[in-house]
Amino acid sequence: MAAFEEVKQEIDRLTEILNDYAYHYYVLDEPKVSDAEYDHLLRELTKLEEQHPELMRDDSPSIRVGGEILEQFNKVQHNLPMLSLSNVFDEQEIRDFDRRVRQGLGEGESPVYICELKIDGLAVNLKYEQGRFVQGATRGDGTTGEDITSNLKTIPSIPLRLKEEVDIEVRGEAFMPKRSFEKLNEEKEKNEEPPFANPRNAAAGSLRQLNPKIAAKRNLDIFIYSIGQLNGREVTSHHEALSYVEKLGFKTNKEYKYCETVEEVVEYCEGWADKRADLPYEIDGIVIKVDALKQQEKLGFTAKSPRWATAYKFPAEEVVTTLIDIELNVGRTGVVTPTAILEPVPVAGTIVKRASLHNEDLIREIDLKIGDKVTIKKAGDIIPKVVNVLPEYRKGGETTFQMPEECLACESDLVRIEGEVALRCVNPKCPAQIVEGLIHFVSRNAMNIDGLGERVIIQLFEHELIEDVADLYKLKREELLKLERMGEKSVDNLLKAIEATKDNSLEKLLFGLGIRYVGSKAARTLAEHFETMDKLQSATKEDLENINEIGTKMADAVVTYFEQPEVTELLNELIDLGINMSYKGPKIDETEQNDTIFSGKTIVLTGTMEQMARGEAKAEIEARGGSVTGSVSSKTDLLIAGEKAGSKLKKAQDLNIEIWDEARFLEELEK
Ligand code: NAD
Repeated sequence: MAAFEEVKQEIDRLTEILNDYAYHYYVLDEPKVSDAEYDHLLRELTKLEEQHPELMRDDSPSIRVGGEILEQFNKVQHNLPMLSLSNVFDEQEIRDFDRRVRQGLGEGESPVYICELKIDGLAVNLKYEQGRFVQGATRGDGTTGEDITSNLKTIPSIPLRLKEEVDIEVRGEAFMPKRSFEKLNEEKEKNEEPPFANPRNAAAGSLRQLNPKIAAKRNLDIFIYSIGQLNGREVTSHHEALSYVEKLGFKTNKEYKYCETVEEVVEYCEGWADKRADLPYEIDGIVIKVDALKQQEKLGFTAKSPRWATAYKFPAEEVVTTLIDIELNVGRTGVVTPTAILEPVPVAGTIVKRASLHNEDLIREIDLKIGDKVTIKKAGDIIPKVVNVLPEYRKGGETTFQMPEECLACESDLVRIEGEVALRCVNPKCPAQIVEGLIHFVSRNAMNIDGLGERVIIQLFEHELIEDVADLYKLKREELLKLERMGEKSVDNLLKAIEATKDNSLEKLLFGLGIRYVGSKAARTLAEHFETMDKLQSATKEDLENINEIGTKMADAVVTYFEQPEVTELLNELIDLGINMSYKGPKIDETEQNDTIFSGKTIVLTGTMEQMARGEAKAEIEARGGSVTGSVSSKTDLLIAGEKAGSKLKKAQDLNIEIWDEARFLEELEK
C-alpha cells in the first residue's frame, strides 16, 4: 500500500514538473531545462505509468501533444490532428521499430521506408482554397492550434498562390537558418536582451508574436513534409505526396532517401549524425516513415503519434547521471581542483566517469550535493563538464560538499589568493605538489625523460628515493632494482634516459622547473635571450620586460622565483650533477615543432582564460607549430574556448569543430 502511494505521488510529481517544463517550452518558447533533462524525466514517468497504468493522469505529458494555446491568437481547429512522433535513440531501437512495423503489416508484406531530416523548428499547417493561401496555424495541442497566418505570410518560401487551383492542407516545419539565428542573437546581445536558447525557440518565438513586421525581419524558412488533407486527388505514397507538393510550388527537403532494408535506415541515420554540422539549418534527428499510404493506414496511430513513423534522435551531448562523489586534486602550483565522480554514462560515443567541476564557486553556484542527479555536457571533444543539478530528483539523502580547509596531502591551510577563484595549498613542501612538479619536470616539453611516467614518479617518491628534481640524477642502480616491477633492463634504460637529459638545452630545464606563467614557448624565449641560467638569474624585472613576449606578470614571477634561496641551492646542485645550463640553439625548436598536437592546425581562441593572456596562449600555440586566426570557419581545426565564450563557440559547435576548454588546453601544453 505504502509503495502504491509512493508511486502515485511520484507520478503526480513528475507529471506536474513535466507539464511546467512543457508550458515553458511550447507556450512561452523559453525552455527551463535542456531537452535531455526533459526527455530523461519523461522516460522515468513513462516507466512508472507502464507499471501502473491505472495511475496515469489524463494530463500526462506522455499522451499529450505539444502545449496550450496562447489567448492572443484565434484558435484553429485542425481537420486532422497534428500529432507528435515516437522516438528511437539507437540502432537497437531502430531495429525494434522495424520489427514492430513488419509485425503490424503481417507476413508477406515488407515496408519501404523514406528517411527524412528532422528539421528542428515548429510544425505548421497551411491551408489553401482554390490554390490561395487562406490560413496558417501552429500545431498547438494537436487538435487546436493558433492562427498565425499574417506571420507565416512573411516567409518567402510559402507560396501565396499555388500552381494549381486546389483545396489542400500541407504540413511542414518552419525554421530559422543557423546564420539568421546567430545574427539575431548577436543583435540581442548588443541590445542587452536575453538570447534565444536555440533556433527552434527563435523560430517559434518569431511566429508566435503579434507583429508580422518582426516575423518578416527574422529570415524564416520552411520545408513542407506532408499533405494534411487533399480534395479531388489521390496519392498512394509519401514520396508521391512530396513530388506533388513540390509541383504545386512548395519547398521540400531534397536530402531524403528510400530505404528498403533496416540496414540502410541505420546507415542513413548514423551518416547524418556526422554530416549535420555542415547543413545551414539545425536538425535534431531523422524521421523514418513507411512510404505506402495503404501500409500507413494498416499500422494506424496511438493517441500521440503514428505507428508508421518514428524519429531517430541523434546522441545527445548532454545527459543526466548521478554524482557519486567529489574528488580533490592538488596540482603542481598548489591549486585544488574538484572533479566529479559520476555513475558511468555514455555521452556522444564515450563512457564518461569523471567530469570537471572547475572550482568551489561552481559547486556553490549550482548548489551541487553528493548523490544529486546532474546534467553533464560534452561539446565536441571538450572535457565533460557538470552543467546543472536536477533538484527535483532529490530524495533527502544527498549531502552537501564541504571544501576542506586544509590540504589533503600536507594538512597546511588552504588559501584563496586575492583575485583568484581557486583555493591553493601554498606549502612548497606539499608532497602532492612535489609529485606533480616532478611529473611536470620529466614531461615531454620539459626534460623529456623516456620511460619515466607518473606511476614510476609516484613509486620513487613513496620509497623516498626522490624529493626534488635533483634527486632524479642521484638515483642508484641498486636502489632501483629493489623496487617492484623494476627489472635490470628497465633500470638500465631508465638511468640511461635520465643521463641523456643532462645535455638538454636550457629551455627544457627552464620549462621543467615550473616557474609560474612560464610555458614552454616563454622558456625558449628566455633561453634564447639570456643564453645561460646564470645571466637569467641575475636579470632584473626591467631586463625581462624589455623582451617583446614577456609581460609584467611573467617578469615578476621569474624574478621572485630566482630570489628564493632554495632555488639557488637547487640550481647549484644541478650544476654539480652535470646538468647543462646553457642554450644550445634552434635544435630543440625543430623537434618541438615536429609532432605536437597543434602542428599544422588552424586554431581560434575565444572567451576569457583564467591562467593565461590571449597573446601568451597564441605564442604557445605558434611555438608548437599551430597558427592562430581570428574567426571560426570550416577551415578551423580547433577552438579553444575560455569563460563567457559567445558566438564563436556557437559557430564552432554548429560546424562540429573540435572544442577545448582552458583546462584541456593547459593540459595539452604541458604534455
Ligand atoms: P518531436 O519534435 O520529437 O517530433 C515531432 C515533430 O517533428 C513534428 O511535430 C514536426 O514538427 C517535426 N518534424 C521535423 N521534421 C519532420 C519531418 N521531416 N517529418 C515529420 N515531422 C517532422 O516531438 P514534439 O512533440 O514536437 O517535441 C518533443 C521534443 O520537444 C522532445 O525532443 C523534447 O525534448 C522537447 N521538449 C523539450 C522541453 C524542454 O523543457 N526542454 C519541453 C517539452 C518538449
